[in-house]
Amino acid sequence: SSIAIPSLSKLRPEAEQAPASGIVDVANYGRGRPGIIPLWVGEGDLPTPAFICEAATRSLATGETFYTYQSGIPELREALARYHERLYGKASDPERFFVNSGGMPALQIAIRMVAGTGDEVLVPTPAWPNFVGAIVIAGAQAVGVPMNIDAHGWNIDLERLEKAVTPRTRALVINSPSNPTGWTASHDDLSALLDIARRHGLWIIADEIYGRFIHDPTLTVGGRSPSFRDVMTPEDCVLFIQTFSKNWAMTGWRLGWLEAPPPLGPVIENLIQYQTSGTPVFIQRAGIAALDEGESFLADQIARARAGRAIVQRLTESGLVELPPPSGAFYAFFKIRGAKNAKDIAMRLIDEANVGLAPGSAFGDAGEGYLRLCYLRKAEDVEEAVRRIAEALPRLA
Ligand code: PLP
Repeated sequence: SSIAIPSLSKLRPEAEQAPASGIVDVANYGRGRPGIIPLWVGEGDLPTPAFICEAATRSLATGETFYTYQSGIPELREALARYHERLYGKASDPERFFVNSGGMPALQIAIRMVAGTGDEVLVPTPAWPNFVGAIVIAGAQAVGVPMNIDAHGWNIDLERLEKAVTPRTRALVINSPSNPTGWTASHDDLSALLDIARRHGLWIIADEIYGRFIHDPTLTVGGRSPSFRDVMTPEDCVLFIQTFSKNWAMTGWRLGWLEAPPPLGPVIENLIQYQTSGTPVFIQRAGIAALDEGESFLADQIARARAGRAIVQRLTESGLVELPPPSGAFYAFFKIRGAKNAKDIAMRLIDEANVGLAPGSAFGDAGEGYLRLCYLRKAEDVEEAVRRIAEALPRLA
């Protein structure tokens, strides 16, 4: 007796409708080419520092291989509270932090808590495509609200955002500093966004994962970007998603956290139970090392990003590239004058320059025509990539 394989038509439509990543096609096209400089990914080129790896191996060696707390081991939740106190200058309760296997699962739980079938979630675009994916998989609708761009860079259109609110809207996703644009909200922007959320009874899902990578001095507060934490009250409905991935070169470890008001604890713990049933303890030990001892590594990462950003800015010297300087994160999001189809240009850059970039169309319609370049790499690579792109530019428009 054989087991019947269900036909595809029996899948939930939400599962099939989740958008495929627009970066994968380009990455598959370029991956493995000899000499290619792959700048399509959202990560740096440094491996995780040894002191972090050693914390994990020590944990394994002492037999920490069992099931654990859903929300994270108390030591990591306390380390998160210490880190937040240092960074935001306010005492923090360890019970606000829910450890998770990366920012992505934290996002999925945040969305699942606030939006489902029939609901809408507003996302300023261009945006990290996984916001849309997480919303669609939850059964809700992602409503993109295009950002504005001028000579100074990208900015959020608050009026347009508020006009997009309907009776079905449940949440706003605010990613500052933004992947891919580098837009970084000022305290005024954040206060205005909170006001919109309060007026309409919405949740804010705040993604400030690139907050330590801030390049615009006017937007820097104590080595980080402005945060909702600076302007919110305890009554505000804000869920923060966070990750170890970028700051400490830990993308492959899958370690992040959700920050939420402690009364939501039982709901979040339950959702984690049915998602991962808790994050491996040895991975969490690595997280404690990163938080407690990782500032000098992070300072090196930030310096690397600043150097990369300065090099990429040279692309504008050709006069063929529009690149508003990114205020934060580690991406250059630029347009080649006259070029229309970003994916086509990304493919041609692989063939003609042996450089891999992500097509802006992967970040929503508002990104069409743009390319995203990750500059968190050693300077020689970024320099060589910029040289090759500049050389190919006259043929690309
Ligand atoms: N948020 C943004 C804006 C991102 O760009 C990423 C990764 O690229 C993440 C969250 C999640 O990272 P991870 O799932 O590796 O923690």
